[in-house]
Amino acid sequence: MRLLSTRGLSAPVDAPEAVLRGIAPDGGLYIPDEIPAIPPQELWGADFCSLAQRILCAYLPGYTEDEIRLCVQRAYYHTFDTDEITPLRAVGNQYVLELFHGPTAAFKDVALSILPQLMGAALKKKGVHEDVMILTATSGDTGSAALTGFCDVPGIRVLVFYPEQGISPIQRAQMTTMRGGNLHVYAIRGNFDDAQAGVKRIFAQMPADFCRAHGFTLSSANSINIGRLAPQIVYYYDAYLKLVRAGRIQMGEPVDFSVPTGNFGDILAGYLARLSGLPVGRLICASNANNVLTDFFNTAVYDKNRPFLTTTSPSMDILVSSNLERLVYLALNRDAAAVRERMEQLRNQGRYALPEEAMARIRACFTGVCASDQEGMDAIARVYRDHGYLMDPHTAVAWRGMEKAGTGSAPCVVLSTASPCKFPACVLTALGQSVPQDAQAQLDALTSLGAPLPRALDGVLQRPVRFSDVIDPQDMMAYVQGKAASK
Ligand SMILES: *Cc1c(COP(=O)(O)O)cnc(C)c1O
Repeated sequence: MRLLSTRGLSAPVDAPEAVLRGIAPDGGLYIPDEIPAIPPQELWGADFCSLAQRILCAYLPGYTEDEIRLCVQRAYYHTFDTDEITPLRAVGNQYVLELFHGPTAAFKDVALSILPQLMGAALKKKGVHEDVMILTATSGDTGSAALTGFCDVPGIRVLVFYPEQGISPIQRAQMTTMRGGNLHVYAIRGNFDDAQAGVKRIFAQMPADFCRAHGFTLSSANSINIGRLAPQIVYYYDAYLKLVRAGRIQMGEPVDFSVPTGNFGDILAGYLARLSGLPVGRLICASNANNVLTDFFNTAVYDKNRPFLTTTSPSMDILVSSNLERLVYLALNRDAAAVRERMEQLRNQGRYALPEEAMARIRACFTGVCASDQEGMDAIARVYRDHGYLMDPHTAVAWRGMEKAGTGSAPCVVLSTASPCKFPACVLTALGQSVPQDAQAQLDALTSLGAPLPRALDGVLQRPVRFSDVIDPQDMMAYVQGKAASK
């Protein structure tokens, strides 16, 4: 198996190469030339790490089994606050899959705990002696998860760009107080899309001789990296097998998943799980008021020409969902020229349409729904009242999405992507509680209502701030070049 670019103009590569590159030279995203079959029947009793071993070996050709084993061990042994890694909770008649037990209390830890290991192994394997400079645009959670995952990894530097407005005080503190000599953090005057567009521009425009002269290559830790996508397949299998072992379903019966969606990485992993043979029923793509994807599933037109809205679920405030390109590629029967044409239209006109046959293929699995901030807050209050369970605002969008899509006979698993403690002001407001001014007092108020305080957030607001630069998106290139030249 090899990995191909969705735009078809770059040579096929093995997984270590794809992990180091992040994005393909033609601007496309890497995807296996053939989706590997991974029958869940063979994995009945497997725990998270055994599943990760099996799935990563299948999806990341070019790494040996021993290399993968070491990566999995380093990523997940004793780094999460539960040995289950991603526990599944029954809430009413449905389920919540808690993906936030990692070192920064958000789901991105699942993938960003192992990506640095996969990159380290790839550097060694390929005998690369250059430094790798990782550029990451973040809507909040990717930044801290990447900074934590890569902290002091030799040969790798990380530059994180986050939107100045629109992230929570705790998210900001998690990034701006990071230690690690190889880490740099900048606030951008603009929104997440401005930060992401800036990073893409640097990849496209960084002169090759500048990289050579300063001995580094660029890479990305964003969710387009195949080394981030593949580990996310693991918890779909894990949740499914837990439901089988609990007797809730028979092996082979479908399970629906409702996924709070931004860049479309999390939910795409669910689709890959389905293509690999996991009986995934519906994938409910839950968006907040930035409902580009909802409209796409309903109308076959992806149109980002609309106002960017700041919501209470900032990690989903996205108008260009990069990973959707992989779904489009698969739905267009791997016609890379047709993908190129659409990505060109997206760049020039901000929109593209898919033909009906492609859309039919997508709709056979995906349902798009959106929930407003108010609907999310109502869901937080209701689920707390009825079940004593506290959700964060992202999870709430997916919960509300499940309700709107309608539950069928299959059980539905709602993916929970952040601890409620990352967004205490919003959760307290939803519950009708008064909201203290001070972020630490908010956190204390929430934990006193029964939200377990993640180890990751203990004391974060008291740590000294190390990074305070605020820059314009058009200056990002200059900052990156400055850092590259300054070692
Ligand atoms: C990143 C993130 C999402 C969106 O996930 P995608 O893979 O980008 O769709 C949802 N919720 C939280 C809390 C996140 O950090």
